[in-house]
Amino acid sequence: MVVSADVRDVAGMSEGTGEGSDDLFTVAVEQFTIAADVIGLEDDLRGVMSHCQRELTVHFPVEMDDGSVKVFAGHRVQHNSGPGPTKGGIRFHQSVTLSEVKALAMWMTWKCAVVGLPFGGAKGGVQVDPKLLSQAELQNLTRRYTAEIQPFIGPTVDIPAPDVNTNPQVMAWLMDTYSMNVGYSVPGVTTGKPLVLGGSAGRSEATGRGCVFGIEEAARHLGIPLVGSRTVVQGFGNAGSVAARLMAEDGSKVVAVSDSRGGTYNPAGLDLDAVARHKERTGSVAKFSGGDTISNSELLVLDCEILIPAAMEGQITEDNAHDVKARIIAEAANGPTSPEADRLLYERGVVVVPDILANAGGVTVSYFEWVQALQAFPWSEQQVNERLREIMRRSFAEVAGTAETYGVHLRTAALVRAIERVAEISRLRGIYP
Ligand code: NAD
Repeated sequence: MVVSADVRDVAGMSEGTGEGSDDLFTVAVEQFTIAADVIGLEDDLRGVMSHCQRELTVHFPVEMDDGSVKVFAGHRVQHNSGPGPTKGGIRFHQSVTLSEVKALAMWMTWKCAVVGLPFGGAKGGVQVDPKLLSQAELQNLTRRYTAEIQPFIGPTVDIPAPDVNTNPQVMAWLMDTYSMNVGYSVPGVTTGKPLVLGGSAGRSEATGRGCVFGIEEAARHLGIPLVGSRTVVQGFGNAGSVAARLMAEDGSKVVAVSDSRGGTYNPAGLDLDAVARHKERTGSVAKFSGGDTISNSELLVLDCEILIPAAMEGQITEDNAHDVKARIIAEAANGPTSPEADRLLYERGVVVVPDILANAGGVTVSYFEWVQALQAFPWSEQQVNERLREIMRRSFAEVAGTAETYGVHLRTAALVRAIERVAEISRLRGIYP
């Protein structure tokens, strides 16, 4: 693995959360261009790959509980269908813009390509703060948005999934709406469904699990034994709590975890079951009696070997990158590291397993869910986890090899691999007509 400085590296390649993201697509194209320069990609393909293939904007009415009608704006963007049907989540957030959705769609293309899934990238979003809606209004909004984008999606066309503020229930409404409109059940139209509707075993743990597989590989490359190592996790939600538990199972001491209300730190190692019970009781890991109170900013610079940002974007910046003590940062979250921080960390030899690799376990098991839906043949959780491990290990080895070949670090290497793969597909398919 190459850990020398590479000032050409790019920003967090991710699904991002898109706050203040009017120019997010410009950022995505800049990132693409940097990696395209590394491999000397031909101009024709740069033109194709730096645009989104299809962009749909819809404005649609929703009847509210008080009988009034509100009009919402939504988007569905497919960046590149060369590798196969397009795939990507749907987010409900007040800051959703077309630029953001386009960037997220492009990043999904790269994420799928890095782990070799037969999908192009897509993304959808509705500009809404769902916390202001009742369940009935949320259902109405989901169903009408689905009806609007229905000509654009389908099990062999474009397959949505949950993202920020959408969940298995929203996916169940989406799947039902699509199915009712065609007249029969189509479980393959979405992933992230509830288990009973054809969701996959292991899906809810997949992101954290995939992230830990990535850490195991990085630690092996660097000769860092996980047994006895210290792990710090920012964000004790879906991705972070699973990653913490699995790191502990690997013999690492999880010394600190946090959430939006604060963190808890115990240098001797936290009792994670007790932390989880405390969170269930109080709604937060903060003020856990088995650890000392710690702020999120203190947590990021704690003494540890492994740091797992699993909360929000933009956490490690030029302001704190100098003080980060971890030797491996595994980005379970999307876009937690700024480009400036990336450069600083690289110069200091800190290995960042980038989000398009480290959190690709989620879309990988979504792919498994889609395969199971198409075949109407569920896999065991063991099969899911074994196949996920195989894909994460292989992808990490390929990205590390690319880092070595080009003398770049893992983020650029992951992006280079993704672009090379999509470029090869584009060359082979040619241009129709
Ligand atoms: P989640 O909502 O389950 O958990 C997020 C956690 O982060 C919560 O504990 C929350 O309190 C905490 N948090 C929020 N703001 C924080 C802050 N400022 N400081 C510290 N903690 C904070 O979400 P999740 O699904 O675990 O997603 C977390 C990250 O992982 C996001 O960036 C998401 O895009 C990314 N991701 C998740 C998946 C997945 O399958 N869940 C897949 C790919 C990427």
